[in-house]
Amino acid sequence: MAEQSFVDLLSDKPNLTSYEALYKHFHSYPELSLQERETASTIASHLESFKAGYELCTSIGGHGLVGVLKNGTGPTVLLRADMDGLPVLELTGLPYASKVTMTDIADGIEKPVMHACGHDMHITCLLAAAEHLAHIKHAWSGTLIVLFQPNEERAAGAQAMVDDGLYDRIPVPDYVLGQHVLPLRAGRVGNRKGVIMGAADSFKIVLYGRGGHGSMPHRSVDPVVLAANVVLRLQSIVSREVDPSEMAVVTVGSVQAGSTENVIADHAILKVNIRTTTSQTRERVLAAMRRIVKAECEASKSPKEPLIEPTTHFPLTVNDDDVAGRLASSFAGFFKEVFNPEQPPINGSEDFSILASSIGKPYNFWFFGGVDHELWDRAEREGRLFEDVPANHSAYFGPTVQPTLRIGYEALCVAALTFLKKPL
Ligand SMILES: [Zn+2]
Ligand SMILES: [Zn+2]
Repeated sequence: MAEQSFVDLLSDKPNLTSYEALYKHFHSYPELSLQERETASTIASHLESFKAGYELCTSIGGHGLVGVLKNGTGPTVLLRADMDGLPVLELTGLPYASKVTMTDIADGIEKPVMHACGHDMHITCLLAAAEHLAHIKHAWSGTLIVLFQPNEERAAGAQAMVDDGLYDRIPVPDYVLGQHVLPLRAGRVGNRKGVIMGAADSFKIVLYGRGGHGSMPHRSVDPVVLAANVVLRLQSIVSREVDPSEMAVVTVGSVQAGSTENVIADHAILKVNIRTTTSQTRERVLAAMRRIVKAECEASKSPKEPLIEPTTHFPLTVNDDDVAGRLASSFAGFFKEVFNPEQPPINGSEDFSILASSIGKPYNFWFFGGVDHELWDRAEREGRLFEDVPANHSAYFGPTVQPTLRIGYEALCVAALTFLKKPL
């Protein structure tokens, strides 16, 4: 029985207690995007400590690093974890909460730093899987690549690794696999064929007015009123222009204009974030945004064309049907009823797929839960899952260490062995 063999292969697991300590270490010492120096060096020394023959490649596309374990003929499987933290002041109150602050090289500003997206969990699960898969080398054949990616949060790390010659330095994988911890009940694993995460496009928009005295609006063009109209009108894109059966989000996350009561400012800056789950909807929403911004400027007698500048772009994450199908049978056999093969897609985004799409290879990205059972069950009973369960990027996001770590580690092992395991 194939399912039984996964259970056998994972029964002799590495000492996960030491990985719990390692997870808490990563959680206590997060680093911002592009500055994951210590994290990468801890990962490299950990991989070397196995003495299992992982060939290391470091400093790829920034602090990215890769371990390659060659183990005979067979397919090449790449497992990926991301490494960066976020500029968030941690409020979890956990004994191992981060107290770190760092000067962000992106803008020179000192910021609190937190692993608020669970990338510390991804790293730890992948290291545990790397150790165990090396330990059971007799059971599989092929090449295993463990890849630790920097700068996921700013949508550029995967591309940077590819652009820095990643696939000239390591074997080209046949399958690219990754996972993310989400606010699901700890222990649950969810996957699906097709779109699992949306695309995200961010823009900086500058709206031009004409500054003046607060008492003389007739001599000015007020960019605050213009910005207010743009913000409200942008909200009509999803409600009035997108097919109601499609998912889309338009968020204006930042509005800045003026500095005092009695001066009409001369410009306003909006920061807009757009999430979509098909390329058609994406095109439609982006075109509507441009049209509305320009038309509102015209309506307000703006003296100058608005500046609409794309800042970041995350592609759609679309799981390969065949790979997702093979993983579904492995996961269903191993995780039984806690595996959901029909995981609804989310509007969050990832640059993971670039590691596969850049070489035209199939990929799969799945989710695993990290929410403490008592908290989840109470919130579910009271119908307060959205209110009481902190999601990724929240200052209160602190996955329960177990069973989250074990499940994330097991999912990576089972997924890799789905393609690498020797036939029984
Ligand atoms: Zn994130
Ligand atoms: Zn993340």
